[in-house]
Amino acid sequence: MAETKTRKAAEVKEERGVNFWIDKSPCWDLCNCPEMIKGECPVAKYQFLPCWEIEGTYCKLDDRGATGKDTSICETCRVYKKYGNGQPIVLKLFGKGINTHLEELDRVARK
Ligand code: SF4
Repeated sequence: MAETKTRKAAEVKEERGVNFWIDKSPCWDLCNCPEMIKGECPVAKYQFLPCWEIEGTYCKLDDRGATGKDTSICETCRVYKKYGNGQPIVLKLFGKGINTHLEELDRVARK
């Protein structure tokens, strides 16, 4: 079950095939993310998707559970409002976010 939910980045990229941020101001610029955040956030690495379609972006990891799946923040975000074209927000890439990275570190630390 988890296998089907954790889609491979290559599969999703094949569907999209392009860099979403070409000719746009990327979210890390619009949100003034520091280099350290940009370096950890999956958005900069998986640029073939808009940030709101990626689980575990920095801004989705708020203090309401930090699952990385809550996209309610995106609905009011200027990045989505500017580039989302009113399309429904649907997560398409799982298992690549900061939350997953932190969970892995936690698992290794407990061994
Ligand atoms: S809140 Fe959502 S739409 Fe806004 S920058 Fe973060 S992931 Fe992108």
